[in-house]
Amino acid sequence: MLKFLKQVVDYGKETWEATRYIGQGLAVTFDHMQRRPVTVQYPYEKLIPSERFRGRIHFEFDKCIACEVCVRVCPINLPVVDWEFNKASKKKKLNHYSIDFGVCIFCGNCVEYCPTNCLSMTEDYELSTYDRHELNYDNVALGRLPYKVTNDPMVTPLRELVYLPEGVMEPHDLPDGAPRAGSFPQDLVEEKEEEKEDAKG
Ligand code: SF4
Ligand code: SF4
Repeated sequence: MLKFLKQVVDYGKETWEATRYIGQGLAVTFDHMQRRPVTVQYPYEKLIPSERFRGRIHFEFDKCIACEVCVRVCPINLPVVDWEFNKASKKKKLNHYSIDFGVCIFCGNCVEYCPTNCLSMTEDYELSTYDRHELNYDNVALGRLPYKVTNDPMVTPLRELVYLPEGVMEPHDLPDGAPRAGSFPQDLVEEKEEEKEDAKG
């Protein structure tokens, strides 16, 4: 008899748990039914990439010292640094530099370790081509600066969804100067410096 009662109680508990989980799932569904769809009308509208976005790499030929650190830190030894030794100046002379973005995994190691900061990650993510060989950028192509989404008169820039003010789900018609969620990297650096100053003082 006791065993039967225990089975009935367990069954009741499991039924209650299952009902609760179904209710939680449906609550999310009903919550989304009240929201408008957020559709970015690409390419007429584009999301502004975040500050730390790792897009196509920019290269400054004149700053490169052909040290090949970027090759050694790259997980796939990708950058091609073509140099020759100049006997007169006793220095390396860079002839060509290239990165194949068909292979690059955009990890940013080369940018992080370059001693002369001649590499940087840009916000350019529109790299699609019909021929994969066109993704092998030489130093001329790498030297081009990307066109910023916010400067393009043909495009309506939209704030990335994670940077919308708290509680806002729709990036369209956001008033200028609306607060954003989170802090800019420079704000975080300033906060840290202030904390250090306070700790000292
Ligand atoms: S690490 Fe920087 S300076 Fe050295 S070869 Fe690479 S791009 Fe040039
Ligand atoms: S971003 Fe990463 S994978 Fe691409 S070239 Fe630099 S180190 Fe190599």
